[in-house]
Amino acid sequence: MKPLFGLDTVALAARMIEMGEPAWRGPQLAEAIYRQRLTELREITTLPKAMRPKLTAEGWEVGRPRIAKVFCSVDGTERYLVQCQDGVTVETVWMPEGDGGEIGDGSDLDATDKDRQGGIAKSWDRATICVSSQVGCAVNCQFCLTAKLGLQRNLTAGEIAGQVVATLDRHSVVVDRDRVNLVFMGMGEPFLNYDNFMGAVALLVREVELSPQRMTVSTSGIVPGIERFAQEPQELRPKLAISLNAPNDLIRQEIMPINRKWNIETVMETVRGVKLRSRERITFEYVLLGGVTDQPEHAVEVARLVRRSGLPAKVNLIAWNPGPEIAYAMPHGEAVERFRETLVNAGIPAYLRRPRGRDIFAACGQLKRTVEGGSE
Ligand code: SAH
Ligand code: SF4
Repeated sequence: MKPLFGLDTVALAARMIEMGEPAWRGPQLAEAIYRQRLTELREITTLPKAMRPKLTAEGWEVGRPRIAKVFCSVDGTERYLVQCQDGVTVETVWMPEGDGGEIGDGSDLDATDKDRQGGIAKSWDRATICVSSQVGCAVNCQFCLTAKLGLQRNLTAGEIAGQVVATLDRHSVVVDRDRVNLVFMGMGEPFLNYDNFMGAVALLVREVELSPQRMTVSTSGIVPGIERFAQEPQELRPKLAISLNAPNDLIRQEIMPINRKWNIETVMETVRGVKLRSRERITFEYVLLGGVTDQPEHAVEVARLVRRSGLPAKVNLIAWNPGPEIAYAMPHGEAVERFRETLVNAGIPAYLRRPRGRDIFAACGQLKRTVEGGSE
């Protein structure tokens, strides 16, 4: 069956015309699948009765990926195995109250009292959804569990946006009332699946009506992707995070082989080509590996590096989350705090991301489709 989910209003209208239906069936379908979040043709009661079997006969179904398994953490985080039409599963994470990573990059500027009040029955004030862009990943960062899967396949735009819509649906999110941030930081490297990733953003902005200013995409530093990203119109461009993870090229190429292709200075130079919105900042993510990247001299070097980049920036520190068969150590609490202080004292905003859902393998770098952990 062919999925309607993933086609925008214009494409839906074109399909309707091909079927001999009026073009305005396109917007009607878009309303049903992206805003009413219906998942079955028979639920779309705005369509004439005869048309629903006709769509089925022509091979169409709504085809939104579905949440097949739920793992609940003691901290409220939920990890989903989201199943695509071909049976492949990817991971999506729901973090009520986020993980602190959204502070200080411009996300908070548009918060209104209405946002803060939220709904009556909600147990969260703001939430963050962490979205996957590929099944597995080819980049092979040495500290990341997703890397162990290798790249299995790219996700389509509908499969990427579908993770978000399924999650919004599960939590009965009211898009123009509730405060939800999206981070494209799940499995995969979004900039190695650029067209589908940006296609998903376009669906989420234009059809689901989420703001790109509440979306952040993280890249390991894929320069051609950053170059294309710099050309995107502001109304479609999420905020940008770069996984820096090391104070210099020597250490970075050890832990992120991609650095041999595009080194730190090349990435910085390309990022300078992105025209930022007023008060927007670039986020540098920095995974602290005990003994490897968490030393005091590393913090001094990172401060210098970020300052020299000339970019309005903030640093998100992430204490490394352990995983089986990865021989790194978690950093000590004091090392993390000292690292943060060094950056802050050097005038660089630095925040510590709270690990969310470690008990269910939902935290950063732990997405490997583990089927254990937490209650269901
Ligand atoms: N592929 C993209 C986005 C997904 S990874 C990228 O690498 O940017 C999201 C973040 O998780 C990255 O900043 C990455 O450095 C970090 N990460 C990966 N493995 C981790 C681990 N085991 N513990 C903590 N953070 C990790
Ligand atoms: Fe891929 Fe990101 Fe993991 Fe690196 S950190 S292997 S780019 S998912």
